Formats: sequence, C-alpha cells, structure tokens
Amino acid sequence: MKTTESTTEQTQSTTTQESSTGAKKSTWKLQDFEIGNYLGKGKFGQVYLAREKRTKYIVALKVLDKEQLKREGVEHQIRREIEIQSHLRHKNILRLYGYFYDRQKVYLILEYAAGGELYKQLQECKRFSEPEAARYITGLAKALKYCHDRNVIHRDIKPENLLMDSNHDVKIADFGWSVHAPTTRRTTLCGTLDYLPPEMVEGREHDSTVDLWCLGVLCYEFLVGEPPFMAPTQEETFKKIKDVDLRFPPFVSIDAQDLISRLLVKDTLQRMSLTELFEHPWIVNNCPAQ
Ligand code: ATP
Ligand code: MG
Repeated sequence: MKTTESTTEQTQSTTTQESSTGAKKSTWKLQDFEIGNYLGKGKFGQVYLAREKRTKYIVALKVLDKEQLKREGVEHQIRREIEIQSHLRHKNILRLYGYFYDRQKVYLILEYAAGGELYKQLQECKRFSEPEAARYITGLAKALKYCHDRNVIHRDIKPENLLMDSNHDVKIADFGWSVHAPTTRRTTLCGTLDYLPPEMVEGREHDSTVDLWCLGVLCYEFLVGEPPFMAPTQEETFKKIKDVDLRFPPFVSIDAQDLISRLLVKDTLQRMSLTELFEHPWIVNNCPAQ
C-alpha cells in the first residue's frame, strides 16, 4: 500500500542526487542519514553534520522549523532559496543537493564546508593579507559571474554568508535574498546595512551590479578589518553610502585602493564589471593562478 502524509514521516522531496554509483535518488528521508556533530545555529534552525547511510557521503543538514518559517513569513523566501541554489553548480557556490520535509521540519541537504565561516576566520586574524584577500575575491567573482550569466543576483554578499572548504576555497552560501533578474521586486530593501549599495539605500531599482558593490565592500573589509561605511548610527551609515565617503588606511596598497574605488561607484553604469575585475592589476598580481 502506498504511504500517505499521515502514515509516514517523509512526505516529499523533489530534488535528485546522483550517488557515487551514479544512481539517482529522488526522495530523501531523515532515516537515510546518520546525524553527527552540531555545526551551528541559524536564524531559522540548526545545522548538523550528517552522513548518508548508503554512500557514506558527508553533508550538512540544515533543519528548519516549519512553524517558525510560517510565523516569520519567510516560506516564500526559503522556497526561492531552494529553487535557485539547487540549480547552481560551481566550485565557489555551496551545493544544495536536495531537500525533504516532514510534518514539522524542512531539511536542506547541503555541501559540508569543513573550513567553517569566513567571518570567524576574519575575526581571528582581524585582516587578510592582500594575496589571501585577492584569492577569496577572485573565487567570489567567478561564482558571481556564473550566477549573473544565469540571471541570478545574490544581493547579500557579506562575510557571514561565506563558508570555506578544507582547501580554503570560499563558497557562497545563503541564497535567501537572491533573485532571478529581471524582477518586479527590484527595489526590495535587503541585505545588511553596511553592504547596501546606494541604489538600494535610495530605494531605486537595482540590477546585478549590486553584487559588484558588495564585492567592493567585502574587499575593503577583508583588507581593513571593518566595512568602509561603518558609523555609530544607521542614518550616518546611509549618508556615507550615498556620498560614497570612502577613506583608506595607509597600509592598503594603491592597487587595492584602485580596485575598491572602481567597485564602490555610485553610478551603476560606471561601476567596474566582473570582466574588468579579472583583468585588474591587483587581481592579476596577487592571484596569478586564477
Ligand atoms: P540564515 O542562513 O538563516 O541567515 P545563518 O547564516 O546565521 O542563518 P545558517 O546558514 O543556518 O546560519 O548556519 C548556521 C551555522 O551553521 C553557520 O554559521 C555555520 O557555522 C554552520 N553551517 C551552516 N551551513 C554549513 C555547511 N554547509 N557546512 C558547514 N557548516 C555550516
Ligand atoms: Mg546563513
């Protein structure tokens, strides 16, 4: 007899995963996994290390509480996150292998990022060296090129959304604010204040160039240890962003200053493109093997 929602924990999963044997599996359930260490707590749930029993494949299982998603009105956002992230395949983008749910929880099967959060790494060492920062920025720029070529805008690039694998390769995680462009919701105010581009602060329409602005803010934070428009109040941060009030400490190299200043440009048409970024001397000289 076929099981129904009331008789089984596993109700539905739609994404397929190719196992090491090449076989495709279209439905997952909690019983397919051995749950290991707790990896961390997110806004809407917990993340655990897990191993798929049959293939012994290691993943991260993100467990989201359905009630909480409903209460906070983010079901739509989570659906979009799953829809977008599950279709992206890039070395610098965290894979979302699939998902399933039962009556209370939604489970996301994610690539395990053994290196943890880039944010923690940055906090520990305060600043990255220029070659280190250039390596991360190059990886991220490649991932963004891949996204933009598929009309996906991330819109929330910041250290908290970046994870690292065991090779210290950076992975974009968290596609909660990403959208397929063009969209009718272009003026949504999203993202962390420090990383918001002027067009979003001013409530104007935005496009994929928002991610270039964020890359500039990120590059600055990597090299300086704090974002460029940090201020005691939200109003002051907004003013600094609108005025592009950008100042560099003297230890930032001229080439790095040049790259950041070309990304943090108010006029989106004049903002540096990803193609130009790959050819910039700071990238070329610090990251020759890109
Ligand atoms: P949200 O994504 O809801 O905004 P968040 O980013 O704070 O919240 P999650 O993405 O849910 O949190 O993850 C919580 C923590 O679990 C992260 O900070 C990270 O340390 C860890 N983590 C999440 N995903 C992975 C993963 N794929 N591999 C390794 N650790 C992970
Ligand atoms: Mg997250």
